[in-house]
Amino acid sequence: MDTIPPDTPLPTEAVRLLEALLRNDDPTHRALLAQLPHLRVTGRCACPCASIDFTPDRAAVAAPGAGNPVAEALIVDADGEPVGGALVFTQDGYLSALEVHTWQDEPITRLPSPERLRQG
Ligand SMILES: [Zn+2]
Repeated sequence: MDTIPPDTPLPTEAVRLLEALLRNDDPTHRALLAQLPHLRVTGRCACPCASIDFTPDRAAVAAPGAGNPVAEALIVDADGEPVGGALVFTQDGYLSALEVHTWQDEPITRLPSPERLRQG
């Protein structure tokens, strides 16, 4: 993990991606969406990929019971071909990580836009 300055807010592209991954009528997802404004970055993947770790202000939010991964989707390229996946993880019911992985040689170094997500 690289050193992250304390109190680093979540990048906008990560917020948009989490909103897209968690957007449905699931009560667990709704509770997790309420944590988004309270998330702070705690770390990044050691490899060049765009995976990111975070934690909310636990005093400010509710923690639903949540399995792992709590949400996932395929990532497709500009031609609509699947190139990898996006996964959302929780710890003790709090959002804790957004992971992007690929089946190609080069890691995904920038978080994809929500338009690149497909349900697998
Ligand atoms: Zn990585």
